[in-house]
Amino acid sequence: MTAKIINGVAVSAEIRKDLKVRVEALAAQRVVPGLAVIVVGNNPASAVYVRNKIKACADVGIHSFRYDFPTDADPRAVLDLISELNDREDVHGILVQLPLPPQFAISEILRTISADKDVDGFHLYNVGGLVVGNTVFPPCTPYGVVKMLEHEGVALEGKNVVVVGASNIVGKPMALMLMQHDATVCICHAKTRDLAQFTILADILVVAAGKPNLIVPQMIKTGAVVIDVGINRLPDGKLVGDVDFAGVSEKASLITPVPGGVGPMTVTMLLYNTVASAERRNAAASLRQ
Ligand code: NAD
Repeated sequence: MTAKIINGVAVSAEIRKDLKVRVEALAAQRVVPGLAVIVVGNNPASAVYVRNKIKACADVGIHSFRYDFPTDADPRAVLDLISELNDREDVHGILVQLPLPPQFAISEILRTISADKDVDGFHLYNVGGLVVGNTVFPPCTPYGVVKMLEHEGVALEGKNVVVVGASNIVGKPMALMLMQHDATVCICHAKTRDLAQFTILADILVVAAGKPNLIVPQMIKTGAVVIDVGINRLPDGKLVGDVDFAGVSEKASLITPVPGGVGPMTVTMLLYNTVASAERRNAAASLRQ
């Protein structure tokens, strides 16, 4: 078997095309979706991610507002800015690029972002929403994975899904979203003993560990759907995921590449959440009139 490659760039392009139409509909009502992006310090990877997000906003007609702080910034100044942005009519989404320098308490920063502008979906309110199955802003990376699976017509109900990685931003919300779709979900992490005994059972395997070549062909079931969230830079500069792509492609039915798989979907779902936020706010304002 040779797996079909899920092209994240193409799936993203379809979703962004639809978003443009929704942005035009908002523009007809004099609403421009706005995303505020707060960057602290000069982490090179963050710089690339932020540049991509801002460019993607412009491509679909979302207005972005970028705020830069030095590495030694006082967290109070960032919290004050967030409070100001929470009150602004032209800002529908607020994103604080992670990681933050050590003087910041990330939980305090995330808690300060208004839950109805939390387009990254990291506020406790939205995390709680995920648990009970009605989150306002699903976190972008796992949301992108669900959209990709939907796009490929992969049914989730009753499927064995194994998620490798249990972080708050990818693994845990991923597992919750898949449970919400009635999959049978198993979560593995760095302390899991004999990872292969779990991965081999997966109809759908989602890997987000940040370890190149963690998943090799003998660890997967023939015909499995393999979603590689990992992004790793090898010493020679090459970008790879967590899955042995060449080997696993021979055994899987569907697989995502790195780059060009989940990565573009993450940015697209940020745009999606921002447009949805602007629509919700606009609908609420219309009701009040
Ligand atoms: P993290 O370091 O916060 O969490 C990694 C998780 O993987 C942990 O739960 C850890 O226990 C688990 N893990 C580590 N080694 C393991 C092993 N050998 N076996 C099983 N589990 C193991 O990382 P994160 O923020 O969740 O990101 C994970 C990966 O996904 C990274 O490579 C990151 O760059 C990538 N990522 C990609 C996107 C995207 O848009 N494609 C978005 C976010 C993160």
